[in-house]
Amino acid sequence: MLVLASFSLVSCTVVYLYSVIHHIYFPYEVIGLGILLFLWIFNYPFVWTILIPIITVVLYSIFSLTFQTFQYHNLITIFTLLVTFCIGAFYSLMNGANEYNLFLAFKHAEAQALIDNLTRIFNRRGFIKQLSSIRKITQREKKTNYLAILDIDNFKMINDSYGHDIGDKVIACVAKQLSQLYRRPLDIVARWGGEEFIIYWSEDSPKNSPLTMGQKTCIKMAENSIAVQHQQYLSFTVSLGITQIQDNDLLDEALKRADMALYKAKNNGKNQAIVH
Ligand code: GH3
Ligand code: MG
Ligand code: MG
Repeated sequence: MLVLASFSLVSCTVVYLYSVIHHIYFPYEVIGLGILLFLWIFNYPFVWTILIPIITVVLYSIFSLTFQTFQYHNLITIFTLLVTFCIGAFYSLMNGANEYNLFLAFKHAEAQALIDNLTRIFNRRGFIKQLSSIRKITQREKKTNYLAILDIDNFKMINDSYGHDIGDKVIACVAKQLSQLYRRPLDIVARWGGEEFIIYWSEDSPKNSPLTMGQKTCIKMAENSIAVQHQQYLSFTVSLGITQIQDNDLLDEALKRADMALYKAKNNGKNQAIVH
């Protein structure tokens, strides 16, 4: 960038110096402006589109005065330089705006990569990213933190009996209900994959034990009914495995405990929460 900018500055100065010394105004100044314009368009750091014409105008004026040739022609050249500067600045702004739009598109794509398409809640990646920032806050505030894995019961049967579309509706319904149940600022609800969800929440009141929260979740899910066909409605149940996350716990360790608790809940007859 610097090399191109310096080159454009030097070439313009040489052309102007030559035209001033020889009292020739055409076509050298046009060539000079052409070079400048070309370099502005293809080499557009904003600072240079301001600096180059200003330096060129100053040098041009100094040369003209030194050689005592300052006259009407010179004013026209300075005016042309300023017009060229405006064009260069316009291109720079356009490029800047394009870059900004690209940046926004990138940010949007980055955010989308953390969201599950079907449920519009966090996906696995989103959960892990969100957890890393939220854990810092909950650890600082000395809260008790819990992690739960929720799995829809007999989901294969729902798919087989009513089709994938209804299965998807059930998944979306679970996501919506979970987002309403765990909606405090530091709660995280995410789709872990398939018909499994993951929940992270903090508690400072002993009234709300993790088991109470788990049971409340089971009851809330069992209350739903999904329209299937011809005034037929489908209800479903879920099971949860819950564990308390210790300060120095790795996510994988907590997940293992929650998974074991979920396994017990399934073996115990499903539609229930178990705390490990
Ligand atoms: P359990 O009560 O023990 O959890 O049994 P299950 O039938 O719920 O569990 P299983 O693991 O046997 O079946 C899960 C099914 O979920 C299998 C898979 O085809 C289905 N599935 C996974 N992702 C999706 C999805 O995005 N949409 C739909 N409709 N089905 C899905
Ligand atoms: Mg499963
Ligand atoms: Mg299941």
